[in-house]
Amino acid sequence: MEQQLDWQKLGFSYTKTDFRYISKWKDGKWDDGELVTDNNLLINESSTCLHYGQQAFEGLKAYRRKDGGIQLFRPDENAKRMRLSCRRLLMPEIPEEKFIDACVQVVKANERFLAPYGVGSTLYLRPFMIGVGENIGVKPSKEYLFCIFCMPVSTYFKGGLQPVNFLVTDYDRAAPHGTGGSKVGGNYAASLYPHQIAKDRGFQDCIYLDPTTHTKIEEVGAANFFGITHDNKFITPISPSILPSITKYSLLHIAKEYLHLEVEEADVYIDKLDIFKEVGACGTAAVITPIGGIEFVGKMHTFYSQTEVGPFTKELYRYLTGIQQGDIEAPVGWIYPIK
Ligand SMILES: *Cc1c(COP(=O)(O)O)cnc(C)c1O
Repeated sequence: MEQQLDWQKLGFSYTKTDFRYISKWKDGKWDDGELVTDNNLLINESSTCLHYGQQAFEGLKAYRRKDGGIQLFRPDENAKRMRLSCRRLLMPEIPEEKFIDACVQVVKANERFLAPYGVGSTLYLRPFMIGVGENIGVKPSKEYLFCIFCMPVSTYFKGGLQPVNFLVTDYDRAAPHGTGGSKVGGNYAASLYPHQIAKDRGFQDCIYLDPTTHTKIEEVGAANFFGITHDNKFITPISPSILPSITKYSLLHIAKEYLHLEVEEADVYIDKLDIFKEVGACGTAAVITPIGGIEFVGKMHTFYSQTEVGPFTKELYRYLTGIQQGDIEAPVGWIYPIK
């Protein structure tokens, strides 16, 4: 590689890689799709994605195994969720085989950006679909682009497995029967302002409560929430406006089947945080980020310890990352080998 990448210092930022995938939907069907080198898109100025947020996306990673091979983690789940997001925004669905095949093509074409095993870096894939073409009225587009680019990343929240603090603001990221459960860009536009407030006050990000009553935890910025209670139960919030995190459902399974904990999806009240000894945020980008403290109406609630990672969080992290990079045997169907 001409420029030598410092794998551990990548963080989560854009790097132009060699190839990206692009497929067009026109006249009611997808074309075959192709890999291209240009990282700019040329689209009509009246495209629905630019004006009305007709856009959905996904995020998944390719991992390097000890034997030098490469694998994806549950790409069928990303394909499924993307179909649901597209359905919600009246966009055409991407068949699962086309979605996974495109991921494989992108990883293979950019293999030099996937670090060797064990240095803490992965290749993050960003599939997305946008409404394009001439269309200024508020109606679904007649043309779409489905694209995937990739970039090498280390961890999303700086510091890796190190506790960080979050702030509860008065803002919502989604409406009660809106698009909170769909992975669409509009949810993120609404989150930029509260995120900035949290940042300015020295927090990692903000925590969103349920938009109806503002009493229950829903999301931790762009990640899901989980906690371990004092009697060793794994609990994660339940609500239709939470984005169903694949990492979260994987941890639920790991907690039950590998750590033999009781697990539950339940309401998590913001004024009952003292039932938890350890809490964390989880997602493909965040992996597992331990939460040190949460500020709610001016009061800081701290967990396990502000600076140390709890033993259950450590075990969950060890199993999740072990499965993802092929060191620990995965449940059937979780691993998609590329080579
Ligand atoms: C993508 C995303 C997550 C994490 O989902 P994973 O499938 O675990 O990557 C959590 N919350 C929001 C709002 C998201 O967009």
